[in-house]
Amino acid sequence: MNDTIQYHVDRFADIEVLRYRVPGFEDLSLRDKLLIYHLSEAALAGRDILFDQNCRYNLWVRQTLEHIYLTWSGDRQTADFQAFETYLKRVWFSSGIHHHYATNKFTPGFPAAYLDTLLNDTRFEGDRQLLHRLLFDPDFMAKRVNLQAGDDLVATSANHFYEGVTQQEALDYYTALSDSTDPHPVSHGLNSRLEKAADGSLHEVVWKDGGEYSRAIGEIIRHLEQASAYTENEAQRKVIELLIAYYRTGDLHTFDAYSIAWTQETGSRVDFINGFIETYGDPLSLKGSWESIVNFKNLEATRRTERISSSAQWFEDHSPIDPRFRKKEVKGVSAKVINAAILAGDSYPATPIGINLPNADWIRAEYGSKSVTLENIMQAYDKAAEGNGFAEEFYETEEDRSRLHQYGFLTDVLHTDLHECLGHGSGQLLPGTSPDALQSYASCLEETRADLFGLYFLADPELIELGVIPDSEAYKAEYYRFMLNGLMTQLVRIPLGEELEEAHMRNRQLIARWVYEQAASDQVVELVRHDGKTYLRINDYERLRTLFGRLLAEIQRIKSEGDYEAGKRLVETYAVKIDPVLHQEVLERYAGLHLAPYKGFVNPVYTLVRDAQGRITDVRIDYSEGYTDQMLRYAREYSFLTTK
Ligand code: ZN
Repeated sequence: MNDTIQYHVDRFADIEVLRYRVPGFEDLSLRDKLLIYHLSEAALAGRDILFDQNCRYNLWVRQTLEHIYLTWSGDRQTADFQAFETYLKRVWFSSGIHHHYATNKFTPGFPAAYLDTLLNDTRFEGDRQLLHRLLFDPDFMAKRVNLQAGDDLVATSANHFYEGVTQQEALDYYTALSDSTDPHPVSHGLNSRLEKAADGSLHEVVWKDGGEYSRAIGEIIRHLEQASAYTENEAQRKVIELLIAYYRTGDLHTFDAYSIAWTQETGSRVDFINGFIETYGDPLSLKGSWESIVNFKNLEATRRTERISSSAQWFEDHSPIDPRFRKKEVKGVSAKVINAAILAGDSYPATPIGINLPNADWIRAEYGSKSVTLENIMQAYDKAAEGNGFAEEFYETEEDRSRLHQYGFLTDVLHTDLHECLGHGSGQLLPGTSPDALQSYASCLEETRADLFGLYFLADPELIELGVIPDSEAYKAEYYRFMLNGLMTQLVRIPLGEELEEAHMRNRQLIARWVYEQAASDQVVELVRHDGKTYLRINDYERLRTLFGRLLAEIQRIKSEGDYEAGKRLVETYAVKIDPVLHQEVLERYAGLHLAPYKGFVNPVYTLVRDAQGRITDVRIDYSEGYTDQMLRYAREYSFLTTK
């Protein structure tokens, strides 16, 4: 395949939209292509669910704005209309009115009176006052996920996971459901909204066929059934069957059965996730945001992760943690490198670069987990960043930069491999420790643990032995990148004066700040200033590795013992607050580069190709669809939920 596809697609607000290639799709068998095709349809069918989960008014807002965008006949060249268009693009990108990452509400760049002009001209008959409040009132539905310590995190979060419920009521409700002696607890609350009835009682509204989101889920089921005709083996067919059964019943035991079957199914080329999976959108980390990714194995690159995962027990035995917290027997970590074929729901347009599932601790302990690195996505990021001036601005020396150029992509991918394939799966809870003990700090601490595991072992000679890293210099590229990002450059995503909230960003700063503080006295790591600019300098990479190991030991202890207070202290001390002077400097230097701090992707388009008799002969992949065209087409073809 040629490399001339245009990676840059669109640019607005703090967003850049890219395109990713799907190398190897053309060479798949027709059956695999058809499997991907139908799974992709199942992925796109769930689109509206996430909009509604993110905020109960999102679908209504989106559809109102789309109607204006498509029908308004006024002058489209004015600054106000351009700002309106940007706002709509942001709503698409975030699956709602809150920033996809920072989770605060973003503000339109056009005046409120202009909204009235548009509404008048398009004969809008809905609730104007509500629409105005949603777009312009900064205090109304201010934050999708509020993690501010001391606030009622449930009542003050604008997501649609709870209705009329306080944090204490939600905690009480789920504590009452959980049985700490049950070795196989279901993920209570994962697929439902908790609501308070008029009489004050609490009940769950379950997301399932025949329940909430029924029409979208019905469509997902229909496409899964079609996909099931093209499965590669019996185990894969069983996975789809269990997923359909789960969507029909909403039964969380069935979800666990599905998760186990999915984890154990490692023989097929094509794979997918589809469901209520990650819980970052819920301040209590219980409710799953809907997402789907369809993918297939990158055979060449998978040899790399297979070498790592086949040594999983060696890594576990050599992890720098208290031996009591090590897994005696690491259960099948199956790691593979994949190419994403479609991104949907919570993984679209912004997407993770690595995934490790399932999330249930007991399933991971007994059945292992599946870990993937999304190679074609990382490649697209890498290609799009070529020559953008970032390293020239923020790296101190030519030596730091040349390490980045020589090893940066490899060690970044490898860190992701280690994070996903070994990090999340490592360690064990002490008997009797509740998997929910860390509450609102759980997501951040779990990411911290996985990142540290990856950082620690990235510098291990064992990786050279395994042939996945070329020499003992390479890891330094990732150490420098990680520390620079955690101490400084990730702040480009945060407006001045705000704090860190997102789990991964908190995790990176926790690690970098903690290490920096420990290292300050003997200058293992320094922030130096010259030419009016702050630079990271790492003087002792070996010692830095030791510090990563020490912090890993402490984070593992916190998780294994469920030490909520210690976890809270670490997060609140290192992961939340930002040095305002350094923040301002980083923002100014970054602004000079004219880059977008957030990126996402448009999907390719898959079309069935038929011969004269109407038989399907191929599935064509096309990369030419633009961002707005894709969003409008998805709205036309995959709008299955009605609005408020
Ligand atoms: Zn992770």
